[in-house]
Amino acid sequence: MKRIICGLLLLALLGTTACSVEIPAVTAAGGAEITAVPAADDTKIPDGRWLNPDIIGNVTEDTPAELKDNFALYVNKDWILNTTLPDLVPSLTSLGEAELILMDRKMKLLTDDSLTGHDAELVHKLYALVSDWDYRDAQGIEPAKPYMDAIRDIDSLDELYDYMCSEHNLMQLYPFTMNVDADPVDSSVYITYLDPPGLTLGTEEEYRNRTDVGDLFYDEAKQVSDYMLVRLGFNEEEASDMFENSIAYEALLAEAIPSDKHQRSKNTDAEDCYTLEEFTEMSEGVPVDKMLDASGLSGADTICITVPEYFSALKDIFTEENVPLIKDWLAVRTASELTDLLDKETSKTVAEMYGAMAGLDSEANEDLIVLSTVAGYLPIPMDNLYIRTYCTEQQQEDIAAIVEDFKKYYREMLENEVDWLSPETRKAAIEKLDNMRVNVVFPDELEDWSGLDFAGPDEGGSLLEARRAIERFKTERKAAKLGTKADIYKWNQIDLPASTVNAAYSPYNNSINIQAGVLVGEIYADDMSFEQKMGGIGMIIGHEISHAFDTSGAEYDKDGRRINWWTDEDYTTFQDRVAKLVAWYDGFVPMEGLKYSGDRIKTEAIADMTSMKCLLYIAKQMEGFDYDTFFRQYAKLWRDQSTPEAVREAILMDVHPAHYLRINATLAQFDDFLNFYGITEGDGMYIAPEDRVAVW
Ligand SMILES: [Zn+2]
Repeated sequence: MKRIICGLLLLALLGTTACSVEIPAVTAAGGAEITAVPAADDTKIPDGRWLNPDIIGNVTEDTPAELKDNFALYVNKDWILNTTLPDLVPSLTSLGEAELILMDRKMKLLTDDSLTGHDAELVHKLYALVSDWDYRDAQGIEPAKPYMDAIRDIDSLDELYDYMCSEHNLMQLYPFTMNVDADPVDSSVYITYLDPPGLTLGTEEEYRNRTDVGDLFYDEAKQVSDYMLVRLGFNEEEASDMFENSIAYEALLAEAIPSDKHQRSKNTDAEDCYTLEEFTEMSEGVPVDKMLDASGLSGADTICITVPEYFSALKDIFTEENVPLIKDWLAVRTASELTDLLDKETSKTVAEMYGAMAGLDSEANEDLIVLSTVAGYLPIPMDNLYIRTYCTEQQQEDIAAIVEDFKKYYREMLENEVDWLSPETRKAAIEKLDNMRVNVVFPDELEDWSGLDFAGPDEGGSLLEARRAIERFKTERKAAKLGTKADIYKWNQIDLPASTVNAAYSPYNNSINIQAGVLVGEIYADDMSFEQKMGGIGMIIGHEISHAFDTSGAEYDKDGRRINWWTDEDYTTFQDRVAKLVAWYDGFVPMEGLKYSGDRIKTEAIADMTSMKCLLYIAKQMEGFDYDTFFRQYAKLWRDQSTPEAVREAILMDVHPAHYLRINATLAQFDDFLNFYGITEGDGMYIAPEDRVAVW
């Protein structure tokens, strides 16, 4: 469960499937919905309290921007008026600006001949394949044909199984996804986990009661699928029917998944683990053992499954009658994954399609397409090159020292400033804090992809074959882990690359991770003042520590086990406080017609407010602390200019509060802020003490 704090929409413009290898949560706005988005003029209504300044066009020279009424707007008005979105960027924040710095750096790595070693060789070889548009255009869609033909030829259930277990199953599509991870009982042992496959509409619930979120996913996936299938030789009607069939197949899968059971991979109970024989028997006739073999995970002897009900239902879904549906699902999935592997026309059209969904009409940027493809398929070699080129041990020492300071103050805060905790729960919370693992800037030991190779353009290689080699290599690495000693504390560079503008808390090993990519721009610079650092990187560090004590972190103990460490009474108080926060956020309407979901953003809102509380606690210990600089830097961190489409998508899907709410709603909870600026009843930023919602 990765928490992404970066400006996701910026990455949406990369638009291709390669990007989703890196950042699974990235999605772009849906097409058909765009017409329903109000024009910028209609979005100028206050949300019940504040004008939303994040939407492009909402703020003009004449818009009043009083410090005491709308702090986010007051601090950022000049920036808003002077900011135009770069081409293909639907949403720009300080974190987004940091992304642009990183992209520029990574772009240089692609062509830097002075870089040596296997990582550089791989990156430069894939770059040569990806950027040789003449070569790719000459091949056109030909490389995809044998794979699509193999799906077209499926005529029976047996042939379907044969296909799934054959070399033609290019995207390794099975009725499950596989992972190798630590055993839930003995965390030093690796075992194989099987999950239901990812669903187009996001969650199984969307197949029962479709919401706006499901509609967004549907529209986005359908546009890409329709285009790709027609490009690969189907007519429009066939393409449309195939997409509907693929959704119908997924609806059958969704039906077999009980509510809230999806994506529980790390919470599996020990009793949901089987021997391969038991598991094969349970799947009655669906040759899961052969599929595991074909996938490269033949060494799996213990299989843990996250959703037993799903796997028992497979035999009723895999019937002769359903073959046409499953076959179309294979075609849709395969075609939709090919967008960045064929010719220029395909890549550019799909990138522009994603741009249009996010409210942009700019032309696709070829450099960006190339970068996203290389970085998407070679995340580790790219990350290693970034670390070797741009990171220092000094940065590691500096940030580690800041984090340790934070932990110290956090401890004091838990001891002295939280009056509703019983001594027992307080002790457990402090133990959890003391036991927290801290990963900063980059891993001590870099992942090693020296076993990977593929043919470059000089050796007659193709992009499609390079991808196959990379995917095979990744599966072999998973398989090789089986039987070895697991280390749940090892920095996982695939999930948490150093070279992203991100930081994360993992409840599964109680670690906070502050990655190198977040140490640029407005977030952190060596020459910033102490107060600026507190408002930038300090806020982020405090936020990640706080996730240990948000609604999801509260369920895991100091060792990352899902064990209750609360007294019943304290947990009830905690939940009551959360309910108050949720109800308060539910009252906001940040865009006309779009109500807020306090439930979706609660964990992030709790983390922001708790971090602010800790920062203010630190400030109080400092003589002459410059509050004005600190509050302004904090407001700069979350400044935002976005297209209405991007804002709409974020309101529907982002687990973080809207950026101006991260500023205003967070600050307005604290007397230190209100008193410093003399904000009182009647001011827009004022919230009466009894209405405040900070949980900690
Ligand atoms: Zn967070």
